[in-house]
Amino acid sequence: MATVTIKREDCTSCTTCWSTCPEIFEEDPVDGMSCIKEAFRMSGDPGKGEVPDEHYNCVQEAASTCPVEIIDVEE
Ligand code: SF4
Repeated sequence: MATVTIKREDCTSCTTCWSTCPEIFEEDPVDGMSCIKEAFRMSGDPGKGEVPDEHYNCVQEAASTCPVEIIDVEE
């Protein structure tokens, strides 16, 4: 299980993360920024989640391709 955080206030809504890893990330319907899908959120926080091992690689790929480098993954 890994922890993923998105510094949402700096998101440019470029679509990369939810295109790369739609299992974990999605576009927030209210503010248009990236958020963690509800099922994986920690304490209901749209910017913080716990990622099961089977989704670890796609989260890492999203983090490494985010153009503003605001996705952080910790094992
Ligand atoms: S890749 Fe980064 S900037 Fe782009 S939508 Fe995701 S969090 Fe926002």
